[in-house]
Amino acid sequence: MRHPLIVGNWKMHGSRDSVQQLLTELTCGMTTSSHATLAVCAPAVFLADVQQQLSGSPIAWGSQDVAMHSSGAHTGDIAATMFRDFGCRYAIVGHSERRIAHQEDNSTVARKCAAALQAGLTPIICIGETEQQQAAGQTEAILTEQLDAIVQLNGIAALANSVLAYEPVWAIGTGKTATPAQAQTMHHFIRSQVAQHDTAIADQLLILYGGSMNANNAADLLAQPDIDGGLIGGASLQAASFLAIYALCE
Ligand code: PEP
Repeated sequence: MRHPLIVGNWKMHGSRDSVQQLLTELTCGMTTSSHATLAVCAPAVFLADVQQQLSGSPIAWGSQDVAMHSSGAHTGDIAATMFRDFGCRYAIVGHSERRIAHQEDNSTVARKCAAALQAGLTPIICIGETEQQQAAGQTEAILTEQLDAIVQLNGIAALANSVLAYEPVWAIGTGKTATPAQAQTMHHFIRSQVAQHDTAIADQLLILYGGSMNANNAADLLAQPDIDGGLIGGASLQAASFLAIYALCE
């Protein structure tokens, strides 16, 4: 049985004040009857506030990235164990904004996944094709390469403690959401790729959809059999829209 997971990716948005306000709205507006999990991935500097405000609430939290090294001379990087110190449960790895702007390749993402797992964090591993790759009919090949790199380094068992997020790059922050049928096709493809290694892991693996999901389009996406939740950017910055998406999982 897969329980839905709704994760907010705040990216580099907000101020200390606005984050505290958003956290207050989330904790006040959150209903606990859902069998789904709600989580927020905040900028690292706000994690102490996040931990303070969300401790004791049903809302989990995580980081937006993690260093591939466990410690050492890596100025500006943050180790997975440091995120654990601030109560993080999740770490996003391989977000397309990091793959593109920070030249993170598949092997770097696989190492970040390893670092997160080793520290006891659940990596939310983002995979997805660009617009050009989609137009060139390369979507399945790209997803397979991205997934294979994770499995080669970490073994298929690593996916028993991970979450995948299918995020078509052309849909992120663009308002161009994949149709529910398009997203379901790709989620089913991803699950079948994992099943080639291990069917039990594939059956229990959470695969989130990410890419301009909002309170208006989420119901149809979340109704798809292989879509187990969402990784949500823009719509997670307002408590009302984020909680409205979460409420669809009731
Ligand atoms: C994301 O940042 O992972 C994302 C899906 O963003 P948005 O919802 O804004 O497209």
